[in-house]
Amino acid sequence: MITLHNLGFPRIGPKRELKFALEAYWHGDLDAHSLTDTANQLLDAQLQHQKNSGLSLLPVGDFSLYDHVLDTSFLLGNLPKRFHTDQPIQELDQYFRVARGRSRQGEPVSAGEMTKWFDTNYHYIVPEFDTDTHFSLHAEKLLAQIERAKQTGCAVKPVILGPLTYLWLGKCKEASLDKLNLLQSLVPVYAELLTELKNLGIDWVQVDEPILALDLESSWKAAFSRVYDQLVGHSPNLLLTSYFGPLLDNLETAVSLPVAGLHIDAVRGKAELPKLLEHWPADKVLSLGVIDGRNIWRSNINVLLNELAPVYAARSDKLWLAFASEKLDELALLGRALEQGPDVVLPELEANARAIESRRRSAQVTQRPVQERLASIQPDQLQRQSSYPQRAALQHERFRLPLYPTTTIGSFPQTAEIRQTRLKYKQKQLSADDYVSAIREQIAYAIQEQEHYGLDVLVHGEAERNDMVEYFGEQLQGYAFTRFGWVQSYGSRCVKPPIIYGDVSRPVPMTVDWTVYAQSLTQKLVKGMLTGPVTMLQWAFVRDDQPRHQTALQIALALRDEVQDLEAAGIQMIQVDEPAFREGMPLRRNDWQTYLQQAVEAFRLSCSGALDSTQIHTHMCYSEFNGILDAIADMDADVITIETSRSDMELLDAFAKFAYPNEIGPGVYDIHSPNVPGVEQMVSLMRKASQWIPAERLWVNPDCGLKTRQWNEVAPALKNLVQAAQQLRTEQ
Ligand code: GLN
Ligand code: ZN
Repeated sequence: MITLHNLGFPRIGPKRELKFALEAYWHGDLDAHSLTDTANQLLDAQLQHQKNSGLSLLPVGDFSLYDHVLDTSFLLGNLPKRFHTDQPIQELDQYFRVARGRSRQGEPVSAGEMTKWFDTNYHYIVPEFDTDTHFSLHAEKLLAQIERAKQTGCAVKPVILGPLTYLWLGKCKEASLDKLNLLQSLVPVYAELLTELKNLGIDWVQVDEPILALDLESSWKAAFSRVYDQLVGHSPNLLLTSYFGPLLDNLETAVSLPVAGLHIDAVRGKAELPKLLEHWPADKVLSLGVIDGRNIWRSNINVLLNELAPVYAARSDKLWLAFASEKLDELALLGRALEQGPDVVLPELEANARAIESRRRSAQVTQRPVQERLASIQPDQLQRQSSYPQRAALQHERFRLPLYPTTTIGSFPQTAEIRQTRLKYKQKQLSADDYVSAIREQIAYAIQEQEHYGLDVLVHGEAERNDMVEYFGEQLQGYAFTRFGWVQSYGSRCVKPPIIYGDVSRPVPMTVDWTVYAQSLTQKLVKGMLTGPVTMLQWAFVRDDQPRHQTALQIALALRDEVQDLEAAGIQMIQVDEPAFREGMPLRRNDWQTYLQQAVEAFRLSCSGALDSTQIHTHMCYSEFNGILDAIADMDADVITIETSRSDMELLDAFAKFAYPNEIGPGVYDIHSPNVPGVEQMVSLMRKASQWIPAERLWVNPDCGLKTRQWNEVAPALKNLVQAAQQLRTEQ
């Protein structure tokens, strides 16, 4: 019998039920008991769903109220000191204090740092380590989930984040600390957990070690065998699980471990399957992730079947098949076809083949003019007319901004009213005229508020945008949308990636009317706001029938036209957001250069049509620029705004060492937390920044857009931000 399983399951709920329960709890509209109830109902429903799809093993432990890495920190009793409190505090509230910096109970505190999970748009809460870090087991939550999963009557497979990946993802608060030294106290806690699971009668545990898909130093590779030698003794069978890419140079390490099973990513790592089969003992379990959980396209089951049939013949009962997302039916079909032979499921296989073929032939996919324009791109379209110093001189002359100019990243609070307006328009309960007036009212409000705070460069506030990618995708040809295709971004936040199925083009301008209206209301400069090509690609399900870069360049051409239209309409600053620039980076260093070169090319194609006197901004909200500063400088944006407030400006050190030439706005207001930053706090962050970057090239701004915040948080925060800039100017 072939074993079908999955590595985890979407946890936010088909209609984002968990999101709404969490937010109601945070706002005080739901009590802890009801939140737990909702969470349990969702968990039960997803377990049932997986059971009904015929999975042989149910994953458990992948469900989380906020983030599974944070859950692991709680499981291992690893909470940074600043969260310790004398007052008794409910565990739930303590958990949200770490996640969000505040909760219904306990004092506000700076939240755990958040960063992107491998090459995805999911954000996890970074574990923190210092010399006092010790670990202790707190498995109650996991055990309770296992208990619930057992109620289904299915075999249960707990999923835990492995010790090495957990350490690797964390951050040392003291530079002298070597993370690997923490293994001494960490491994016994894992051992204790595994013993407990064994005592519960658990047969298999999935231990996720996705860092096996990364470039690892030899000390980390060596640590794998030490750790797993210690863990296997009193454990259930361990399924060592790697995903997000091939094992490459970690293959030997992985196959040498004494574990009972190995799971690999057989989509991205397909090429190394033969090598793996050669090395992995035939009597040990080999689990293949064969269904692409990262994209939405139908799997070509007939092709997969041909590839897997010989593997199945050789290993029959030691072969498992898995996927990481919702494609349970495809998996079931594949499983049956392998087990009982293709003839048994012939109609299904034929239907799959027809669907694949009809997509290939669809006339909606190809647009000749787009292909031709793409083929005729010239090198001079990839650079601005003059170099940055020349442009900067022109721009300073034109704008006459004060030192430490203040601005925001683009969006203002997306209030219930705004969401209602968009919804009513979408449902045709609001005429186009009424919709335009309603959004204009919001723009006018945002402009008036920004003038009132005293900001130097204003934005229109993005009230018309549901999502920074969806908004553009909806106006471009070649895009399609789902209604409920939600993907978790962080905590209760989700995105609904569009599907790029065909050649991309822009029938009409996308942002010009709103931006021009905003500019008409103020003497101050209004910055136009676009989403860059790399992000448009990264946060979509991208067609797999042409190279990604080709699709990126098509989007870039559409944006290029938008930049020129904005400029022609009198807009003098244009921000092209690239928050997904880093996250698109391949996991392996060997692949970086190609990616970066292509990403920069797409960005430059979007922006280089601008006049020298037009100031191009870009924005990237993360604080990890190691190894990519050349590329960032190559993008040649006149101003870049980045995230720094949670990481204490440290990353500017890298910008300074690299001698990053253009202007920078290091974020001083952590918009992921509801806390209002004080003037002094922001002044001292900027003072720190000015030790690395000359004041003439610094901007003062938040870490990211403000759409997830409320006006009563934003108003005092931005007033403080303006005041901080004023104070800094007097210090010059
Ligand atoms: N301009 C966007 C906003 O402010 C940028 C969002 C982002 O970086 N994720 O919402
Ligand atoms: Zn951002």
